[in-house]
Amino acid sequence: MQAQEEERVIHTNLDEVLHDRGLRTTPQRKLIYRIITATAQHVSAQQIQQELEDVFPGISLPTVYSTLELFTQLGVIHKMAINDGEMLYDTGWSHPHAHMKCRQCGRIFDLDIPPVTQKDIQSAAKAGFNVDSGDLLLHGLCKECAAKESQKAGA
Ligand SMILES: [Zn+2]
Ligand SMILES: [Zn+2]
Repeated sequence: MQAQEEERVIHTNLDEVLHDRGLRTTPQRKLIYRIITATAQHVSAQQIQQELEDVFPGISLPTVYSTLELFTQLGVIHKMAINDGEMLYDTGWSHPHAHMKCRQCGRIFDLDIPPVTQKDIQSAAKAGFNVDSGDLLLHGLCKECAAKESQKAGA
């Protein structure tokens, strides 16, 4: 458990990362970074925009997207596609990992297994397909929702 915590990218020094690329740390970039690291580990651009509205009223979604794209390119966060094509920004573990999505509460949890293994990529290659990237999303019921359901069933 302890080792997993240490691998989280929560304390990336944004100033340093931006400065290394000759980029400025704007108040907007700073706040977007703070929101994604402080809130849930897997957030959409829309969720971030809603939080930003309090401080930067009228901030546009394209502005949020371009900042998130920049952070993704810098490796500060990473992007994952979920089944309905929605993009979520992941601030959890910096190494590739799989996800579990609860069908009841919709929350997404990290799972420390490779999203796509070398063997999977080889299988795809044999089928004549060049893999760029791959996400693994398991669907089911989370611990809390499962407990609620069994409570209901027991009552
Ligand atoms: Zn749940
Ligand atoms: Zn994740």
